[in-house]
Amino acid sequence: MNEPDTQVLKVVDAFDLDDELRTILRPGAMVRDEQGKRHRLPRYFYEVESHDAAVTVHLAPHFGLNEFIQVDLKEAPRLQQYPRYIPCGVRLLAFYLEQFRTAAGASMHVAVNGGYRSPAHKLSHGATPHMWGTAADIYKIGNQIIRTQEMIERYNEVALDVSDDIFVLPFGHAIGTSADDHVHIDVGYITLIPREINEDRMEQPQESRPRFAFEERRRRERRLPVAADSTDPDSRS
Ligand SMILES: [Zn+2]
Repeated sequence: MNEPDTQVLKVVDAFDLDDELRTILRPGAMVRDEQGKRHRLPRYFYEVESHDAAVTVHLAPHFGLNEFIQVDLKEAPRLQQYPRYIPCGVRLLAFYLEQFRTAAGASMHVAVNGGYRSPAHKLSHGATPHMWGTAADIYKIGNQIIRTQEMIERYNEVALDVSDDIFVLPFGHAIGTSADDHVHIDVGYITLIPREINEDRMEQPQESRPRFAFEERRRRERRLPVAADSTDPDSRS
């Protein structure tokens, strides 16, 4: 497993970032989806300082942080450089993807441009959960490339059986409302406020000093020693 320090993620309030990044990420802005419903863009992001950090940090046992920020020239140039930013909600997506992977019984990877896409990304037309970091496009499951209606519908069924929280796009050729060469899975327009964040400000920065927090480690070294102790009262389920 990875060293503890490399798993600690820095959380930033996007209102504290520089003008260019705020313009790209649009924290708190409202965006309309295909049906005209309005959704508020996320405000809290993980700051990923280097490629090394991106490939080292795992959000779930089989999903590295790197997979969710791989983009090509369709993304804003600033977001192709480090430090990179991704909404904190991605952690929930990774959890559900891990369940999907288990249910499918095969490895899977998020495609380039198939994880987080900023509002400035060329594929961002109206609100999609990709702009919240809560959607993933999967082009390959096991060693099979996803390219037939039968495969998409079969894996969509598997994903939907995992949880009622999961949404998929049906097979079809209309961009945004269907998919014909990948499985799209999302968990909705979730904006996640990490517990380390103090929500004591209004929408705009109240002071010039940037603020951030480091997410506490959630797992393993805190939990495993406790689980090994059978007298621990918290071990009751
Ligand atoms: Zn998608």
